[in-house]
Formats: sequence, C-alpha cells, structure tokens
Amino acid sequence: MSINVAIDGPAGAGKSTVARRLAGLLNFIYVDTGAMYRAMAFYFIRNHIAADDETAIAQACREVDVTIAYEDGEQQVVLNGENVTGLIRTEEVGNMASATSVYPVVREKLVELQRKLAQEADVVMDGRDIGTCVLPEAQVKIYLTAGVATRAKRRYAELSAKGERCNLEEIEKDIRERDQRDMTREVSPLKQAEDAVLVDSSDLDIAGATEEILRIIREKTAILKTV
Ligand code: C5P
Repeated sequence: MSINVAIDGPAGAGKSTVARRLAGLLNFIYVDTGAMYRAMAFYFIRNHIAADDETAIAQACREVDVTIAYEDGEQQVVLNGENVTGLIRTEEVGNMASATSVYPVVREKLVELQRKLAQEADVVMDGRDIGTCVLPEAQVKIYLTAGVATRAKRRYAELSAKGERCNLEEIEKDIRERDQRDMTREVSPLKQAEDAVLVDSSDLDIAGATEEILRIIREKTAILKTV
C-alpha cells in the first residue's frame, strides 16, 4: 500500500514549498492539486467563460482534459495537451481557481485524478480538501496555516521576485476573500480534518516548517509500522 501524506491549509501558508521539499527528502511524488484547479481556471479565462456561468463551466468541463507529468521531478500541468505550468501562477488565475473550485463538476473531475495518483505511488499531496475528502485514509494529515498578514507578505515577496507588479494591501484583501470562499463553500470546504495535526508556520521559515512536518511524518509512520 502506498504512503499518503496530505497537507491542507489556506493560501500562502507555505504548503507547496514545504510539500515539494518533503517529497524530495522522502523520495515521494509531490502532487500540487491547486495547480490542477488553476489549469481549469486558466482554460475558463482563456475561453472568456465567466466564473458565475455554471452552465458554460459544466460544458467546458466536458472539453477539458487535465493531466500531470513530471520533468526532472517537477510537476507539470498539461491542459488539453499543452503544458501550462508557467502560465497559471498569477493572482488572476488564483482568484478564478478559487471562484470556480466551488462547482462539483470541476471538483469531481480533479478528485478522481488525485485519488488515482495517490493509489499508484507514495505521495505528498497538498490542497484544501486532501485530508477531509480526497484521501480520508491518508496515513499522515497536516493542516498548515499562518496569520493573514504573514501570508500576504510571503505572497508579495514571491510575486515581486518573479517581477510581477503587485500591491500588498490588495494581496491581503485577495487572501481574505479567498480564505472566506474556500472555507464557506458547500462542497469540500477548507477545514482541518479531525485527525490532522495543526502546524502554524507564522514564526517558522520554510526549513523550520519542513523539519516540524518531517518529525510528525516520522512519528506517525513509525507508529504505523509497529501496529
Ligand atoms: O493552492 P492554490 O493557491 O494554487 O489553489 C488555488 C485555488 O484552488 C484555491 O484558492 C482553492 O479554491 C482551489 N483548490 C481547491 N482544492 C484543492 C486545491 C486548490 O479548491 N485541493
């Protein structure tokens, strides 16, 4: 049976960086589920489909094929045969992903792909509903969070480093809105699974958060081996 590590939490908590590092250290596959929702969102934007047009979104879902591939160990998201990995990391796509991930048609498609990947290999999978919905049987579940101001500053630094023009106040506002939407949506809202371990990264850097989660993974999997 494969080992599954589920990491959930709000935007900007450091999930993807930490999850990628953990996967490298454990020699597991890293699955970034946010990138899948972003790829779908990218398709909707490109095809001028509005976030509130559920009929058009449902129709588009029938036309969209999202798969992932790995290049030098890095996840690549492939949308209808096109590698869109470099095009989906913008705030516009992130906000569209948050707005359209509320629809069951969008989620069903991606959850199926995520479960298949976790069945086939040892994975560290990050997202919003991994511990609660996608992989309820995951051996290790982490809820990684941090205060809103800390998360906004991190996102600002990340976008500025990529040369994207951005404004800290707007980012913080976006993060609050996104949290609110992700936590209150009807289908698979973002919440800590009952059996998830809470890790607050407000006062931890990436190395510190990685170390803390690695310690939890070792503890949990060691217990599992002795049961
Ligand atoms: O993590 P990232 O910011 O890339 O995710 C973009 C959006 O995709 C999130 O705001 C969330 O609405 C959605 N998402 C989700 N379920 C996941 C991963 C991401 O609903 N498992």
